Amino acid sequence: MAELLIATRNKGKLKELQHMLNPLELAIRSIADFPDLPEIAETGNTFEENAVLKAQTIADLTGMVTMADDSGLEVDALGGKPGVYSARFAGENATNSQNNELLLNMMSDVPAQLRGARFVSVIAVARPGKLLGTVRGFCEGIITDRMRGNGGFGYDPLFFLKDYNMTFAELSLELKNKVSHRAKALNKAVILLEKIILENAACFDPKDLRKRQTELKEDT
Ligand code: IMP
Repeated sequence: MAELLIATRNKGKLKELQHMLNPLELAIRSIADFPDLPEIAETGNTFEENAVLKAQTIADLTGMVTMADDSGLEVDALGGKPGVYSARFAGENATNSQNNELLLNMMSDVPAQLRGARFVSVIAVARPGKLLGTVRGFCEGIITDRMRGNGGFGYDPLFFLKDYNMTFAELSLELKNKVSHRAKALNKAVILLEKIILENAACFDPKDLRKRQTELKEDT
């Protein structure tokens, strides 16, 4: 069976991705299967750059077709910030609540009609030595003036969807997973992967995998 490596250590994301990739009948591996892989620093200026950096580096190191994503929040009144810095908006090891408090403070004087924002998710797929494609999904919303809801993670309690009259943190996970930026990017990624599988069947072959795992161990 063809194998695909998903470059995330986030178990929630992995589950979401596995579920959506089910119809493709790929054997999904995660980087938890490669404990010797180094952490890839997200040094890019765009979501695309970071997703490609992760997918290509890990594909080159493991010899496997690899899928990686990068996501974040773009707030119009802040010129697109926090963007690629979403996870570390309030500092390198900032918690979700520190990031949310900073965002609320920076938005305190912004009137309702200028509080537009969007979540963005970019997924990149690479095989060793070659980028196979990227896809982008987004979800438009409004930054609230206080936290609302207990679900989700990150900026969810501050991201309000007009159509549902709720924040992401108030939506059921099932509904969030239908309308979110990641769901939209994933839907496109499934189509991209179908095309890649047809055109590159040989590169999904796991025959070199064990060899690469041994080499990785010897390198580190
Ligand atoms: P990454 O794609 O895992 O690097 O996520 C970057 C950051 O963007 C996360 O740490 C969150 O702060 C934010 N983010 C991305 N997706 C979501 C989401 O669905 N809800 C809330 N915050 C998100």
